[in-house]
Amino acid sequence: MSSPIKDARERVRAAKAIAVLTGAGVSAESGIPTFRSNGGYWQKYRFEDLATPQAFARDPKFVWQWYEERRRAIAVARPNAGHEALVAIERRAPRFTLITQNVDGLHDLAGSQNTIKLHGDIWIVRCLKCGREQVDRSELTDLPPKCACGGMLRPGVVWFGEMLPEGAMERAAAAVKASDILIVAGTSAQVYPAAGLIPLAIANGSAVIEVNPDATDFSDDVAFALHGPSAEILPQLL
Ligand code: NAD
Ligand code: ZN
Repeated sequence: MSSPIKDARERVRAAKAIAVLTGAGVSAESGIPTFRSNGGYWQKYRFEDLATPQAFARDPKFVWQWYEERRRAIAVARPNAGHEALVAIERRAPRFTLITQNVDGLHDLAGSQNTIKLHGDIWIVRCLKCGREQVDRSELTDLPPKCACGGMLRPGVVWFGEMLPEGAMERAAAAVKASDILIVAGTSAQVYPAAGLIPLAIANGSAVIEVNPDATDFSDDVAFALHGPSAEILPQLL
């Protein structure tokens, strides 16, 4: 008898080009809270106060300290079986692109190679004055540190209302259009333009495999809606 997991696994095995879209849920089992689920950040805070350029301009210390708190949680987190399964899928697939909304760097740590970070990276800081970006894993400060030019450094992540890194969405869309399957794991699919990659895949005839404990707005439209935590389900696609 066929089962959705088994059928999805066959599709992954046969695929010539695989695209993957991940969200905060793939890091949940590494101990990093998501934004929208129960216990997520947006139940404790208002995003307008934390994740907008206006919030940082108004109160850089408050916003910086929240990022420091997140960086501290992320620094001790390890990739989980879901991140690792995606590395194994990448090794076997002729063509593979991982598109992530996560800023935690756990896909890098697991060993993913061909990755597009749509929303930046929490370990990068960018100067408000000269625009220079640098990796910053330094120990924690209460105030945003200063660039060599004297400008204030901000987290290198994409805030609400901001543009995505140049070319990132174009490269992601091209990978999705060229894919035979799109695996969508751990995203509420509510943040655009990233979520738009799912209908793009469907319109291009790519089979979408969704991995999420909960249903999303796209669950009824995808080829496979696999309900469960990604650290359990993604390894079963191997
Ligand atoms: P989200 O918080 O909106 O949604 C998380 C989704 O993950 C939900 O649909 C939830 O049902 C699902 N989920 C929860 N536990 C899961 C598990 N064990 N396995 C699989 N799925 C699980 O997150 P989002 O869709 O990524 O969008 C929010 C934005 O938040 C993104 O822009 C991202 O940049 C940012 N963010 C990043 C991190 C991170 O880097 N780890 C953490 C929180 C938020
Ligand atoms: Zn500078």
